[in-house]
Amino acid sequence: MHPMVKPALRRGWRDLNTVQFGMTPAHALTLGPMDTATGSFLDLLDGTRGLGLLREEGRRMDLPDGHVDRLVRRLSRAGLLDDSRGGGPDADALRGKREVLDRLRPDLASLTLTTSEPGDALGRLAARGSMRVQVRGAGRVGAVLAALLSGAGAGEVDVRDVGRVEPWDVAPGGLPAEAVGDRRDETARRVARRAAPGRPPRRTAQSPPGADAPGFSLVVLAPRDDVAVHAPDPSAAEPLLSSGTPHLYAGVVEGTGVVGPLVLPGETSCAGCLQEDRTDRDPTWPRLVAQWRSGRQRRVGACDLTLATTVASLAAAHALAFLDGGVPSSAGARWEVSVPGLHWHARPVRAHPACPCGAAENSKGEHTSGDGRSHETMAVHGPSEESCRKADAERPAGTWRAHV
Ligand SMILES: [Zn+2]
Repeated sequence: MHPMVKPALRRGWRDLNTVQFGMTPAHALTLGPMDTATGSFLDLLDGTRGLGLLREEGRRMDLPDGHVDRLVRRLSRAGLLDDSRGGGPDADALRGKREVLDRLRPDLASLTLTTSEPGDALGRLAARGSMRVQVRGAGRVGAVLAALLSGAGAGEVDVRDVGRVEPWDVAPGGLPAEAVGDRRDETARRVARRAAPGRPPRRTAQSPPGADAPGFSLVVLAPRDDVAVHAPDPSAAEPLLSSGTPHLYAGVVEGTGVVGPLVLPGETSCAGCLQEDRTDRDPTWPRLVAQWRSGRQRRVGACDLTLATTVASLAAAHALAFLDGGVPSSAGARWEVSVPGLHWHARPVRAHPACPCGAAENSKGEHTSGDGRSHETMAVHGPSEESCRKADAERPAGTWRAHV
């Protein structure tokens, strides 16, 4: 191990013997008491020295026997330590790809804040490379979203849609103006490939459009049709539920951007739950939805460029948080933002007992226990129990077992 105090967090002394790591409430921690000698020793924890060499340096600085090991253990337990050589074989392989890693350096730094074990961050980043994600819908939202996932290191990003690129599909980071008139799905796949920091493998066996291609770590539903955004059709997600495929909804409907819910089949609420819940609250809901769906008059929806790309980005962030092993706040909720106030708020989507997905039964008694991670280190204070970190310890990245 070559210990490195996570460089993503700025250090500051709150008083003579208390160090604060980080600036923001979400990720800052304080550690104390810490004497000045130990404080200056922190500078040596930069990932260039192994433990042996660090112990030698400690002796030279007259630190007591065993002090260096205790310090390293303490920092490690507080989640403040990375290992410049850790993360496993996949991380080692990624370290060898200098240019790819340089592109992803800020993303890696961010991952050090949401992982606790030394070496985990690069391990997670490398794990993204083996993720397969499908984005269904390649308009202003979907194409940008696909490019973002690919650019952030997701290994395979497949895009499904029909038709040809329309002038109003064009967005910075998404479908380019030159592609107007080209096939929408092919163009979006090409855009995603070009955004990748490395050279992702060309898509293998292309399954026919609409096929329920198995094996995706996540499917993102980003329909261009605004009725499908507002009232997602439960039957369209049935194959995803039965195959236990996690899926996330995102889109823009009449000036409102929507991200969520992230559906963990059988565990968190789905489109069916949403429909049941809305019908409970408003008995005329099915009648309205039927009219909206049959309306079908082809028109260009109200979907501001900035709102569309905001939704794409936030949805991609939620997708990555999930792929990295966390459970983002879109599980069981829809984040919504409307022009012109642009105030983000989450609307809970409750698991409904009448929905066949089974989330209502399975969610009973869950999500109520404490965070599972021990914070035995005395005198470490900080909101490290934030949801993402809390969730990350619960399952390995990219794995998900459905309860159906
Ligand atoms: Zn459901």
